[in-house]
This record gives sequence, C-alpha cells and structure tokens, in this order.
Amino acid sequence: MTTIKATCPGCGEVDLGTEDILLRIGAVQTANTYGFTCPSCGDFVEKQADDRVVRLLLSGGVVPVPVHVPAEALELHFGPPLTMDDLIDFHQHLMTSEWFEDLKGRTS
Ligand SMILES: [Zn+2]
Repeated sequence: MTTIKATCPGCGEVDLGTEDILLRIGAVQTANTYGFTCPSCGDFVEKQADDRVVRLLLSGGVVPVPVHVPAEALELHFGPPLTMDDLIDFHQHLMTSEWFEDLKGRTS
C-alpha cells in the first residue's frame, strides 16, 4: 500500500493512504485541489494542487474526481461590485415602460 505524506496546518506531517485523498481536477489547472480528513485532529484540509502534486498523487494511485467549474466563475470581472443601491435603481428602472429601450442603447 502506498503511503502519502501530507501536512495538516494544526498537526504537521501525517501519513495517508491513496483512498484518503480527494483529488479534484477542474476545467483549468488552477482549479485542481487535493484534500483529506486529518487522521489526527479530524479537520478536512484542502489545498491547491499544482502540476507536480497532481502527477505525484496520480502516480501514487489516487483516483481523481473531475469537477465542473461553471464558465462564469472563470470570467474576468471589471468595475465595482453591485451594491444594494444599484439593485434598487435597476428595480425602479424596470418599473418604467421604456426600460428595455433605455438599456438596449447602452454600451456599458
Ligand atoms: Zn490535523
């Protein structure tokens, strides 16, 4: 049986079996993570898995779990976040009869 050494933030280095590791493979490399329940304290520890870690875990026999990441989560967002005032303004705008024509003409 393969023993994999991992680090729990509270307990330090712990020994795990391949079945103890949850390797999540996302649509993009930065979404890859691995996690485990610490055998010492019981906390679930999750960390980002770079290419080297993914290769290491796969070669050790860990079975990967594909994770679907919605495309919206990967979009770049610009501008300030929506506020409650923005939402109320938008709601009031939708109450007018010309809201669609007004919004159609906007470029931002
Ligand atoms: Zn621990």
